[in-house]
Amino acid sequence: MTEQLTAEQYAESLYAEDPILRMVTEGIRAADMPEISIAPGYGRLLTLLVRMSGAKRVLEIGALGGYSGICLARGLGETGRVVSLELKPDFAEVAKRHVTAAGLGDKVEYRIGEALDSLDALEREGARFDLYFIDADKGNYLNYLERAIRLANPGAIIVGDNALMRGRVVDPSVTSNSVQVMRRFNETIATDPRLESTLLPAYDGLCIARVRTP
Ligand code: MG
Repeated sequence: MTEQLTAEQYAESLYAEDPILRMVTEGIRAADMPEISIAPGYGRLLTLLVRMSGAKRVLEIGALGGYSGICLARGLGETGRVVSLELKPDFAEVAKRHVTAAGLGDKVEYRIGEALDSLDALEREGARFDLYFIDADKGNYLNYLERAIRLANPGAIIVGDNALMRGRVVDPSVTSNSVQVMRRFNETIATDPRLESTLLPAYDGLCIARVRTP
């Protein structure tokens, strides 16, 4: 008997393997980095969101090995750019190498250091963004959300990865700080009057919000 696929495996089975993203996944493994890139289905969604919204200025918080950076940059038009914040210089180096190999090196600017410091600098520079992808240290998700709203162009889109934290968010016995912050992040995404939103529970959970126009 053929083993039945999960719904996620079925969805993935419909798509040809992406050689660029496979190169990234292999590069991340070879570099001994955590293998926690965004799920392929959500990577495709990032490309679609950038393309459908016509976002020109994209901010990524947490570059890791460049997988999501490539997905974001793929959706950009001619003049669009991604700013990607990464704590670790060696991760940013790997991400930059992968994004360049994907032919998108001129579209992504890396800023290394604490993301909150980089966000302060961007605010001082008067930067504004049309789309955010938050995928960094979970304990700062609420801080990142507030900063994202503050630097948002009207109608900006905010995407947050790992909303379920491998099930820990829905397990009431888990009370670690990062999980508590993620619960509050999800609640804020769902209820904050400045946002309209949804939470997709497939893979590791993805929040998508739009900053309401005043
Ligand atoms: Mg993630």
